[in-house]
Amino acid sequence: MGDCIFCKIAVGEIPAKKCFEDDFVIAFHDIHPLRPTHVLVIPKRHIVSLTNVGLEDEPVLGRMLSIAQKIAVEHGSDDGFRCIINTGRVGGQEVPHLHLHILGGSEPVGPMVSKVK
Ligand code: AMP
Ligand code: ZN
Repeated sequence: MGDCIFCKIAVGEIPAKKCFEDDFVIAFHDIHPLRPTHVLVIPKRHIVSLTNVGLEDEPVLGRMLSIAQKIAVEHGSDDGFRCIINTGRVGGQEVPHLHLHILGGSEPVGPMVSKVK
């Protein structure tokens, strides 16, 4: 676990606005929301990124996606939402503990990516 901020949130060492928890995952509100709904879903176990997953991680990866709809609807995204997993340097990942962004609200989230100039 070391100094991982999301591991600390998972064990309650750092406060977060948690909105879902089970044996595999925890979900909490992003501290700097980019849309009216912006929730992060993380595995409780420290996994750095999608670069570091194996077959043994399929249950937790499945759970991260299968609870996304429930979380989105509970937070005002009953007409769709977007899931993003930033991975590594090229993917723009800032926190090195795997996390799924759930973005939504009542208005469209917007273009998927902007053009690189
Ligand atoms: P990423 O760029 O995909 O690694 O996203 C990391 C996300 O974690 C950003 O959207 C941050 O706003 C969010 N974040 C960082 N620290 C915290 C925290 N203590 N509580 C909630 N969200 C956080
Ligand atoms: Zn961690």
